[in-house]
Amino acid sequence: MSESRILLSPPDVGELEQEYVMRAMRSGWVAPAGPDLDAFEAEVAERVGVSHAVGLASGTAALHLALVSWGVGPGDVVPVSTFTFAATVNAIRYVGAEPFFVDCDESGNMSPVLLERAVDQLRAEGRDVPVIVPVDMLGKCVDYATIGEIAVDAGARLLCDAAESFGATYRGKPAGSFGDASVISFNGNKIMTTSGGGMLLTDDRELAAHVRKLSTQAREPVAHYEHTEIGYNYRLSNILAALGRAQLVRLDDMLKRRREWRERYRALFADQPGVSILGGADDACDNCWLTAVVVDPDVSAWTAADLGAAFDRANVETRPVWKPMHLQPVSEGLRGTLDGTSERLFAHGLTLPAGSVLTDSEFERIEHAILEVTVA
Ligand SMILES: *Cc1c(COP(=O)(O)O)cnc(C)c1O
Repeated sequence: MSESRILLSPPDVGELEQEYVMRAMRSGWVAPAGPDLDAFEAEVAERVGVSHAVGLASGTAALHLALVSWGVGPGDVVPVSTFTFAATVNAIRYVGAEPFFVDCDESGNMSPVLLERAVDQLRAEGRDVPVIVPVDMLGKCVDYATIGEIAVDAGARLLCDAAESFGATYRGKPAGSFGDASVISFNGNKIMTTSGGGMLLTDDRELAAHVRKLSTQAREPVAHYEHTEIGYNYRLSNILAALGRAQLVRLDDMLKRRREWRERYRALFADQPGVSILGGADDACDNCWLTAVVVDPDVSAWTAADLGAAFDRANVETRPVWKPMHLQPVSEGLRGTLDGTSERLFAHGLTLPAGSVLTDSEFERIEHAILEVTVA
């Protein structure tokens, strides 16, 4: 039993990536800026259908700089999904604003009903809501029509955390093209990677220019080093952008592979009462980045923990779904509109491997682990 461990979502890089990175190195553009970075930004902007893309060191940096550029800071309150990775909320705290947690609905995405309640409550308190930050959970787009309307009514900007949803669509439009700005991530475990990296996407020329300037220490365009505001060292490097360009060439194939796993998982759990795939029954528009199952312990004969144990015995990695941010010790004292949905999903959800490097024979191992639990 020395079969190698199957990981949740390892990077999928090979010869094409090596070729692109070596070409960038040989070209001498090892400094952060360079032609691959310019080209990568243009290619992502075109794919998503936005006018501007700014390559940054991480998705977190992109979230941070959008908030900095809009002047969000102490005294401001920012409604944000509680069911998310810490990075979304950390960026709000970097600028000294107060995150206000909004629970999700069954899809795992921010509940429009609870967002509306949050906005009403904050308005009644006389608080300013400059921006709302929804998150496309595991690659499923938020209900942008409804959330967008609430943001407009509230006079708030919409900063969309699309870190997980690159390649997904909503009503025919690509993830990353919604709101006043969107953020995507190229971290090693995401749908495509630059090893580490992210991008700010927007149609707002001024925002893009300001974020680009902020990301390179906010240097003024004069010969000497002149600074009129505080800058950051957040630019994506040209070498990593070259890696991203190769990944972009392969993105559709990688998306296809992950969708295959989603469909096979769906079939394997189809006849199991009380078991559903997080995100709902329709994933035609999702990028299927990761697949998570939710097991209702009152209905199902087995639990998410049973499934996790079977995967563990087969040397296959699983992970709980995001622990809601309002439950994190670091969030002590923060408020929100919460109805228990994210807590329930956290208690009964399990994230399963769905990497594009996964092989058919590895998936057979996964299948056996599942059948061990479901055919008892
Ligand atoms: C990965 C992720 C981020 C952060 O992206 P990095 O590039 O790792 O900084 C932000 N939000 C969500 C929801 C993520 O999954």
